[in-house]
Amino acid sequence: MVTMETLVSLCKRRGFVFQSSEIYGGTGSCWDYGPLGVELKNKIKRVWWRDFVQQRSDMVGLDASILMHPTVWKASGHVDHFTDPMVDCLECHHRFRADQLDELDWVHYCPATKGNKFTIPAGEACTHCQSRRTLCPDCGKGQLTPPRQFNLMFKTFMGPVEEDAAVTYLRPETAQGIFVNFENVLQSMRRKLPFGIGQIGKAFRNEITPGNFIFRTREFEQMEIEYFVNPHDTVEGRPADEYWHDRWIEDCRAWFLRYGVEAEHLRLHEHDRAELAHYSKRTADLQYRFPIGWSELMGIANRTDFDLKQHAKWSGKALTYFDEERKEHVVPYVVEPSAGVDRALLAFLADAYREEEVRGEKRVVLRFHPELAPVSVAVLPLLKKRDDIVRTALALRDELSRHWTAVYDDTAAIGRLYRRQDEVGTPYCVTVDVQTVGGSDRGEVADGKVTIRDRDSMEQIRVEASRLVAVFGDLLSGKSWADVAAGVGRA
Ligand code: ATP
Repeated sequence: MVTMETLVSLCKRRGFVFQSSEIYGGTGSCWDYGPLGVELKNKIKRVWWRDFVQQRSDMVGLDASILMHPTVWKASGHVDHFTDPMVDCLECHHRFRADQLDELDWVHYCPATKGNKFTIPAGEACTHCQSRRTLCPDCGKGQLTPPRQFNLMFKTFMGPVEEDAAVTYLRPETAQGIFVNFENVLQSMRRKLPFGIGQIGKAFRNEITPGNFIFRTREFEQMEIEYFVNPHDTVEGRPADEYWHDRWIEDCRAWFLRYGVEAEHLRLHEHDRAELAHYSKRTADLQYRFPIGWSELMGIANRTDFDLKQHAKWSGKALTYFDEERKEHVVPYVVEPSAGVDRALLAFLADAYREEEVRGEKRVVLRFHPELAPVSVAVLPLLKKRDDIVRTALALRDELSRHWTAVYDDTAAIGRLYRRQDEVGTPYCVTVDVQTVGGSDRGEVADGKVTIRDRDSMEQIRVEASRLVAVFGDLLSGKSWADVAAGVGRA
């Protein structure tokens, strides 16, 4: 599996992700998406929205504000409970989440080997003296303070006066924006249960130990769904909330597989009682085998009627649904599939990364799903000194860019240009050559055809330039290279 260092370096070199404010030394745990990163991220969000909101008749969308009424966070429990236990090392002053200490490799000066320094794998005992970690895992010397609870919400002030009454928070999750709009959506869209509201947006958490590149940051994006079901309904003989919970787990897993994540890199982790949030009846995490090990990619929780009841209590508004059949008001149960955009991007990136050997040379290729690849098509001139070739290539790029992300590049020889596109995951390159444009003064006859090269097989086909939009229409909407190539004949 690819290492995080390799990904971080590729991301910087090829314009996917830069450290935020780098020229000032960078900020802790904030990252900026560069020209290719923003394309990849936008495409992930776009296909998520299309598949889960646009194409489903039981879903609608929402875009709530980041700053909300401060009582929202009282009602949701975030002011009182959205905390992590924090400990500090008295020696090196490094800070840790108390509940994650045993997930860290730890430095140990072993008394059984005259104080030799070892780094011992997370959770394991020293093989020489059998002792377990009690001191700071980083320096191996300092005592740790007792845990203190630390609230992860970023506080800010609404308006010009910095006083207690003006305190508000940057939202730590997008979910609450959906709950407080439940009634608005219900009324304006005349929905019947079950239905869901999807939202994509920024969330902020003042994480104690951010890190691992874009895996854990203080500012990130979420793609969340709150799916409302009638708790008195049954589906296939099961309570509706439990049925829909399983359905959403399967739909989310299928979504990641559809866009290229390998099945063996995904697994389900059920929360046990101790891990379960206070509002949850059952939570299952979809974990991905990140370069840092198996970790949460997204969570799918059954939040019951907790949130709607809390907001009803604090706002004094009835957040209920009228069940016409039973002639009763019910508070819907909510199933919440919640994914991080940045973690999804990291998973797609790690999964796409391959190092291959081609004719004795190393080829780095990102095998992104064609719909996710930051650049869909690169148009390359075989000879940059021939004006007619360059002009044709530029015109083709312009035409293709009306439909997809298309780039033109003539800054190297063709072999090099292909490798560069492979490294950023461009699924198809189009090459314009002498035959395409011909040249009456030289007696060359134009055939009006261009070469399309497939990133994964490196096969080439020759196609009339006038048919490119139709051919890419097929290739970029799921038709396989083999089928398209069979239709036009290989070059
Ligand atoms: P973790 O246990 O990793 O802190 P969480 O269980 O607190 O995550 P949720 O509150 O369930 O996370 O948030 C839903 C999703 O939002 C997560 O599965 C993850 O993809 C994303 N997410 C949460 N916190 C962060 C963060 N600090 N940086 C990037 N993505 C995050």
